Amino acid sequence: MPDPQLRRPAVLVVAAGRGSRAGQAAPKQYARLAGQPVLAWTLQALRRCEAVGDILVVIHPADRDLYAAASIGVDGLLPPVPGGATRQESVRLGLEALQARHPDVVLVHDAARPFVTPALVARIVAACAEGSGAVPGLAVVDTLKKAADGWVAGGVARDGLVAVQTPQGFPFADLLAAHRAAVSAGHSDLGDDAAVAALAGLPVRLVEGEAGNVKLTVPADFAAAERMLQQGRETRTGHGYDVHAFAPGDAVMLCGVRLPHNAALAGHSDADVGLHALTDALLGALGDGDIGEHFPPSDPQWKGAASERFLADAARRVAARSGRILHLDVTLVCEAPKIAPHRQAMREAVARIAGIAAERVSVKATTSEGLGFAGRREGMAALATATIELPGAP
Ligand code: MG
Repeated sequence: MPDPQLRRPAVLVVAAGRGSRAGQAAPKQYARLAGQPVLAWTLQALRRCEAVGDILVVIHPADRDLYAAASIGVDGLLPPVPGGATRQESVRLGLEALQARHPDVVLVHDAARPFVTPALVARIVAACAEGSGAVPGLAVVDTLKKAADGWVAGGVARDGLVAVQTPQGFPFADLLAAHRAAVSAGHSDLGDDAAVAALAGLPVRLVEGEAGNVKLTVPADFAAAERMLQQGRETRTGHGYDVHAFAPGDAVMLCGVRLPHNAALAGHSDADVGLHALTDALLGALGDGDIGEHFPPSDPQWKGAASERFLADAARRVAARSGRILHLDVTLVCEAPKIAPHRQAMREAVARIAGIAAERVSVKATTSEGLGFAGRREGMAALATATIELPGAP
């Protein structure tokens, strides 16, 4: 059966630059913006575009860890590809890697443009449908001058001039051929893909760009973007509760950690009561159903499943809504096993699965003083609270 992803355009995100004009320690695409790296905002924005299939990011080889942190929870990412010395070279290397996926159309996008919208992507894709390239452009409104050593050295007529943005879309095979031809002709530093396409004689259509689709470059851009992203953010909490019975066995999974014990927990999955409560807490904060709805116990594919998948899926749902997890708190209720010696390992496991720092995770334990099912050691319970931040409702 053909993979439906292949019929949707692929996006190549160029994130290999070392851009330092933003005044940040890390390359600007990894600079933190409203709580997460710029690249994370860009990837999440692209993922919300229904028109987009595969996403491949070209990175600097030194940025693997930064990339891993920025790409948590984004579906449909191909493994990152190391870039070259120039933007042109990085795009070509990305295209060579994408070839195995046989996309019909590819969009090339700057990592530092996090405000790309589904409407703009749809316009570019539609304009590429007739076999030409398409780039977003905005009419130049400011008066243009030539500068020389801090003095005005002459005027420039702005008639017919446009400022060009990304994403720039092209028939995949044509753009790859144009890049190969450009390298063969000795070009290595063409400014954008429209320039590469023009060199190969490929027609490129102009599509209306968006003023909001800014490229973050200098510190003032970051400050403005931060204000835009924080506007109307809202904080939400959700809670979760779960119970599993003890059964014969020699270990239990709790908050992603295996603890030797004189019993196991019974359940369809690995019965990790802590992760189940945390998953429900996140889904509750999102108002997005519960764990049983997304992973029905009646579905054989979840039999014996590692519960990590449930929590990771809930964390992905938060990221897909451009939200972020502020805090996760879970209380385990049991007489045994002893939780305290494993508390730090559990915090770290939950943090890793949810893609947040361990200091944003709390794991606590209590007995129930010998009362009830937990007190009789028939089973154990977990209660969890999740606090998340989401863009405000429109
Ligand atoms: Mg459960």
